[in-house]
This record gives sequence, structure tokens and C-alpha cells, in this order.
Amino acid sequence: MLKIENYIAGSLVAPISGEYLDNFDPSIGEVYSYIPDSDERDVQLAVDAANAAFPAWSNTATEERFTILMRLVALIERNLESLALAESIDQGKPVSLARTVDIPRAVSNFRFYATAAMHLANESHDSVGQSAFNYTLRQPVGVVGCISPWNLPLYLFTWKIAPAIAAGCTVVAKPSEVTPMTAYLLSKLCIEAGLPAGVLNIVHGTGPRVGSAIVEHKDVKAISFTGGTATGEAIARTAAPMFKKLSLELGGKNPNIIFADCNYEEMLATTVRSSFSNQGEICLCGSRIFIERPIYEKFRRDFLDRVNALQVGDPLLPETNVGAIVSKQHFDKIMSYIGLAHDEGGTILTGGSSPTVDGRCENGWFISPTIIEGLPYDCRTNQEEIFGPVVTIMPFDSEDEVLGFANSVRYGLSATVWTENLSRAHRLAARLESGIVWINCWLQRDLRTPFGGVKDSGVGREGGFEALKFFTEEKNVCIKF
Ligand code: NAD
Repeated sequence: MLKIENYIAGSLVAPISGEYLDNFDPSIGEVYSYIPDSDERDVQLAVDAANAAFPAWSNTATEERFTILMRLVALIERNLESLALAESIDQGKPVSLARTVDIPRAVSNFRFYATAAMHLANESHDSVGQSAFNYTLRQPVGVVGCISPWNLPLYLFTWKIAPAIAAGCTVVAKPSEVTPMTAYLLSKLCIEAGLPAGVLNIVHGTGPRVGSAIVEHKDVKAISFTGGTATGEAIARTAAPMFKKLSLELGGKNPNIIFADCNYEEMLATTVRSSFSNQGEICLCGSRIFIERPIYEKFRRDFLDRVNALQVGDPLLPETNVGAIVSKQHFDKIMSYIGLAHDEGGTILTGGSSPTVDGRCENGWFISPTIIEGLPYDCRTNQEEIFGPVVTIMPFDSEDEVLGFANSVRYGLSATVWTENLSRAHRLAARLESGIVWINCWLQRDLRTPFGGVKDSGVGREGGFEALKFFTEEKNVCIKF
């Protein structure tokens, strides 16, 4: 069975401990490869390699970095099909989604930051009347740590390492131990692309062993993390007293607000996607759906029809809309929340159970798309992140009322509003407590825009020049003449 290897100092290597963890294919519920159970010793080797590579990489011309990253882009594109298949097997998502969203986005991440770095300009300030002027150098911070989650494995992993490398930093990165495969395949492509040794180092293993060793290491100057809010808290507790730069992209419980005047058909089709794409395991999925009362009954009927038509099954089949849940642990967590919703008095309109998928996936971890109604906005089911194919639907009567419902949670990542009323759209966009607001659309992304959350959804922004700025430090130089 395949043993995944760490990528340190330009080579693929076994973990020092010689120990491995099981890596599961969630669609069949079986181990299909092994992942290094690395520890702080492997992290030390990776930091040493990143430190050694930093002087040369940070002084490599931006055009040269661009050329190397674009070779990587070409290789990812050439291997798109095998990467999509690997992502689907590792994560449980439909291969059609990996082929059209995950892997193309990894390509875009590298392409975007390879080019963006060439357009990052420094500022100068002419101190009129003082015979002086100031210019501000923007220099790569050094060795940085990038830690990513399991839901969009290569997509989110590259969203961090691309700007870090393009900015001239060297990286020690850790993908989720639940979905390590495409990061491993990427390390092979980095070697093929001629990325200099030590610029990117990938250490596989668990959060408590590898993740915390990266965060605790004194030579790692910045941490870019995407994952759960509790993990983000733990990381901040360690990194803040060490005065590390921190970017934290954390959990969400996003509202989807639907007014009676919306473009109904477009709203309905998009709401099915925003609820159940990637089995609802996207931090931006709208899990609390608020519907203006005049169209509540119609929406409930039509939404149920559309959702019941979704095909749950083998992620490798082209007709599958909803694949497997990423792990048994996460499957159990989602099922326990469905139990909680029932205990809190909710009615499960559809789903709520694990369907049997015949054939090769009969032992896989699947949950039918689940719609729950009859719960108050402030119960635990409506306040805590479930991160699965589970949504609640609730009627509302006024703009102020729904705004109160929407903003009642500790999270503030994204929100969606459906209305043809322009003034209302702008009013709500300004008053919703979230980092991203989509009006009459969902997951429409422009990589130049700031991406991130407020409240317990995180600190800092990714995307555009924000990420390049995060991985650089400003130094002002004042010249008297
Ligand atoms: P997680 O927090 O359990 O793990 C994320 C990563 O952190 C993994 O690589 C893990 O090994 C590592 N980790 C765990 N403990 C650590 C520690 N003590 N120190 C350092 N690293 C540690 O999250 P997950 O279950 O993999 O992902 C799901 C969560 O991610 C959800 O809450 C979801 O909302 C969130 N998420 C947020 C965004 C966003 O952009 N805001 C995007 C995707 C996912």
C-alpha cells in the first residue's frame, strides 16, 4: 500500500519516527494508504531547510519566481485528471466537483500569485518642507507556517503557499492528516518544476504533533491557518505571545436570506448548491436558510423536491451530486447534530439518515441531504457549526427581524441575500456581521477581493494583495537630503 512521504529540502523522505497513520477512502470506509506520523524532529528538519533556502529565494528576481511557479501551474494543469481523482478518493467529494472546482482553483491560486507578486509596489512619501522623503520597503518575513483543513484540500493548501512563495518567503506546510494525498502529489510536481530545495517543505502528520511544532517554532515568523475556531484559539494562544504574524480563517454558520421579491428560479437552484455542494463541507455554505413568510410554503415544497432529486452515491460516478463524508469521526459528529435537532423539537423534512449505497461503496460514510424545520434561531442546532449536508429553514416577517436572526451567532464568515430590491440589498450588506456578503449569487469568487471572516470566524484577510502583504514586513526608510 502507498506510503506518503514528507517533502523536505527538495526530497521525499520518510518520517524520522518510521511511524505511519492510516489514510481512509471515506467512500468505502477502508484504509487505502499510509501517512507519515511526523513529529517535532521532522518539523525541525523542514525549518532548517526553509531557513537555508530563504536568503537565495528572497533574493531571487520576481520574474524568476514567476517562471518557476508558472512551470508548476503547467504541471498541475497537465495532471488535472489524476489530481481530481486523487482528491475525490481522499476526501469523498464527487470527482466532477474536484475536476471543475478544486484542482482548477489550485491552478488559479498559483497563477494569480505568480503574476500578482510582479505588481506589488512600494509606497514613497515626500516630506515636503522637511527636505526628506520616505520610501517603504516590503520584505518577505522569512520562514512561514501554512496549515490547512480537509474540506478543500489542494484548493486551500495552495491558497496559502502560493502567496507565501511568490512573496519570497520559504514555507513549512502541513495539510490535514485526513486528506494528505494531493499535497503529496503536489510535492512531486514541485520537484519536477524545479522549485529550489527548501522553498516549500511539507510535513505530514497530526495537528497536536506537527501543527503545534510548526506554531511553536521560534524561527517560524508567521502562521497562516485555516480550520476550526477551537484550533485557531489554540494557535493564537501559542503564537500571540511570540508576536508572530497570524492569519486565521475559521468556522462559520452562514445565513442565507431569501426575500419574496427574489429571482425565484435562480435563487432555488443556487440555494441547493449553497446548501449541499461538497456535502455541505464548505466553510461558505449557507446552513441557516431564512425565507420571507409569503413564499415560505412554496419554497419549502420546491426546495424539498430539488433536494430529493440529488443523487447521493459513489463519488467516482458522473451522476453523483453528493459524495461521502470525509471521515467516520466527522460522520458521527454530523449524525449527533441531527439527533440534537430532533431533541430540540425540529422536524426532519428529508434526509437525517445514512443511505445505503450499493456496490463498492456499501461500507462508505454517506449522509442524505437533510432539511430541518421548526427550530428557533437561537437553539444549538442553529448556533453551532455542523459542517455537513444539513440545513435548517425558518420563516421571517421583516428585514430587522431577519437581520437579528442572521447576526445572532458567534460566527461571521459569509452571508447570502436574495432580493431584487437594490436599496434593501445595500442596507443589509452594510449591516450583516460577516466578512463576505453575496447578493443574488453564491461562491462567486474574484481572487483579488479580500477573503475572511469577522467575530469568531477569524482574524485577517486572504486574497488579492492582502495575502502578499501578510507574508511581507514593511520597513520605512527616511532620507534627508
Ligand atoms: P481543524 O481545526 O481540526 O484542522 C485544521 C488543520 O489544523 C489540520 O491540518 C490539523 O491537523 C491542524 N491542527 C489541529 N490541531 C492543531 C494544533 N493544535 N496546532 C496546529 N495545527 C493544528 O479543522 P478541520 O476539521 O480540518 O476543518 C474544518 C474546519 O475548517 C471548519 O470549522 C471549517 O469552517 C473551517 N474552514 C474555514 C475556512 C475559512 O476560510 N474560514 C475554510 C475551510 C474550512
